[in-house]
Amino acid sequence: MNVPQISIIAPLYNESESFPHLIQRLNALMDSSDLTIEIVLIDDGSRDNTAVLMQQLALTDERYHCVFLSRNYGHQTALSAGLAAARGTEAVMVIDGDLQDPPELLSEFYRHYQEGYDVVYAVRKQRKEGWFKRMAYFMFYRILRTISYIDIPLDSGDFSLISRRVLNVLNRMPEESRYIRGMRTWIGFKQIGVPYERSGRVAGSPKYSFKMLWRLAYNGIFNFSEAPISFITRLGIFAISIAVLYLGVTLVKRFAFGHVPEGFTALLFIIIWFSGVQLVALGIIGEYVLRIFFQVKGRPLFVVKDEIVDGQFTATSRH
Ligand code: UDP
Ligand code: MG
Repeated sequence: MNVPQISIIAPLYNESESFPHLIQRLNALMDSSDLTIEIVLIDDGSRDNTAVLMQQLALTDERYHCVFLSRNYGHQTALSAGLAAARGTEAVMVIDGDLQDPPELLSEFYRHYQEGYDVVYAVRKQRKEGWFKRMAYFMFYRILRTISYIDIPLDSGDFSLISRRVLNVLNRMPEESRYIRGMRTWIGFKQIGVPYERSGRVAGSPKYSFKMLWRLAYNGIFNFSEAPISFITRLGIFAISIAVLYLGVTLVKRFAFGHVPEGFTALLFIIIWFSGVQLVALGIIGEYVLRIFFQVKGRPLFVVKDEIVDGQFTATSRH
């Protein structure tokens, strides 16, 4: 096969029911597209016969590039394996294996890529999922956006097209608890959102358990914000202010009216005061832990977009 321009990446975990639908749609897409496309499928340690189906396919159709993981690592890690394996020279597109993300959007995404966008991410207009899940997602993205130090776009998941140069940075980010949609935003460059309607699953049941979703949400919040730590510090400062206020009010009462309960006042003041001091101390320790945490992540310090040297753009520039 020629070197592909585009890799379409789909992680699969126990997706044998949706597999035939997926392959049919992807084949139709490849047949109708002018681009050279490879499909990268990742088997995330499936327990059904997804891996067998993948193997049969990859051995007969060389447009399919299959990676089999040794066990179930979870969606974000499986996706990372796909991103690392992709050979697409221009860009990669990330989709879910259950066809909730229509792969046909490739042509629209690719148009934006040609206009100079490095990341084209899909924004859900509507979800075809239960009200509880919809609500949880809605709240989560809004909270994350409020507290995060980068502008993580609302209602966008991993469904996106990512240029080769952004992909190279992503592959060089070794952080262990991965929140790819956040990392993708962190990398920067020109990014654009494209609204789409998220369909229901074609077949099978959701593979993300509540626990896994919760972990994903945690990764989003703790990897891209310092808010939980500064919250502790602020709570401490608040407690100290209450203690001081209380002391002031009591002193005024004491000298103006001459009557306050003695031992009780001192005790209450000391309890609130030292609770505050302890929280502030935790917040300070937290700040150091945060710095260690971000250092240990080993993210690149910065990502260069363009460079002109000796009167010429260097290789990574897109012009
Ligand atoms: N997935 C995976 N490993 C897992 C869980 C899920 O590779 O441990 C894949 C799954 O096969 C699907 C995609 O991740 O292609 C999204 O999973 P799911 O549809 O369950 O998530 P939801 O759409 O409910 O968020
Ligand atoms: Mg799904």
